Amino acid sequence: MELDAFLLACLQAQYGSEDMERILQGYACQRRSSLRVNCLKTNMQQIQSLLSEAGITTEKVSWYDDAVTFPQEEEGRLREMSLYKEGMIYLQNLSSMLPPLALQPHPAENILDMAAAPGGKTTMIAMLTENKAMITACEPNAGRAEKLRYNLMRQGASRVTVMQCDARKLDDLFKFDRILLDAPCSGSGTVNAGFRGRFNENNLKKTTSLQEALLRKAISMLSSKHEMVYSTCSILREENEAILEPFIRRGIIEVIPPELNTGDIPKLPTAIKDTLCVCPDERYEGFFMARLRKK
Ligand code: SAM
Repeated sequence: MELDAFLLACLQAQYGSEDMERILQGYACQRRSSLRVNCLKTNMQQIQSLLSEAGITTEKVSWYDDAVTFPQEEEGRLREMSLYKEGMIYLQNLSSMLPPLALQPHPAENILDMAAAPGGKTTMIAMLTENKAMITACEPNAGRAEKLRYNLMRQGASRVTVMQCDARKLDDLFKFDRILLDAPCSGSGTVNAGFRGRFNENNLKKTTSLQEALLRKAISMLSSKHEMVYSTCSILREENEAILEPFIRRGIIEVIPPELNTGDIPKLPTAIKDTLCVCPDERYEGFFMARLRKK
């Protein structure tokens, strides 16, 4: 696999040779697929029995009872099954299930998903709150907003308002009890042979300035003493800890432990205590997540 020289240099500088080797192995391996059971429509027992009838073998996930992994070769077949077409499951990498769990959304809350399409995390928040929370899902890209609306409908997420706009332009008068900022990023955690040439200094600068502006906006719309989650599918410190640090230093937010049993999740070192950086491997995409409280 030929990888971008700029990305390799960033990884080497940040992680050193040993962790970089783990990351490169994670990029190169064929990842198992994973699915989340949509408890708005069904339950794990029913899904397991449909999968075993179809001869698809699954493996449990230690920190989440409503997810399983299965061989990637089965994904095509699974997409043809009615349990997929009817939104009884959502195909989602395990890493991507972490932020909605860390967010701990409650049914009575007013929640913002700030960068929402295609909706994996929005639909999970709707599910975790039994469709009772009032959710606003923001997505500026027209095609992606359409995909988001489709996924919301298919998953039966019925209390979600889609705002097709740049979240930086949301009115500061909006106030939310909880916010998920799953920020647009370089995707350095999800690299495989298909992704090349996107990594350069200029692109990284543009991405980090967007992330910084989105986080600033999120904090301004979050009610005091309330919580949010910042996540990216990047493992580069520039897009993660470096975005959070100025706000932490100025006493505007603090990092709090995610309260998840992350024991067997493959981790990379992070520069901020209680943040989580997932190392890509045969089950996980590379990912970063921080649970934050506004002071
Ligand atoms: N949270 C999504 C999920 O779990 O399905 C994935 C989100 S993806 C990492 C980031 C999204 O942010 C993209 O759909 C992108 O179009 C959107 N985006 C880009 N710029 C944005 C902005 N200024 N405001 C809000 N969303 C933005």
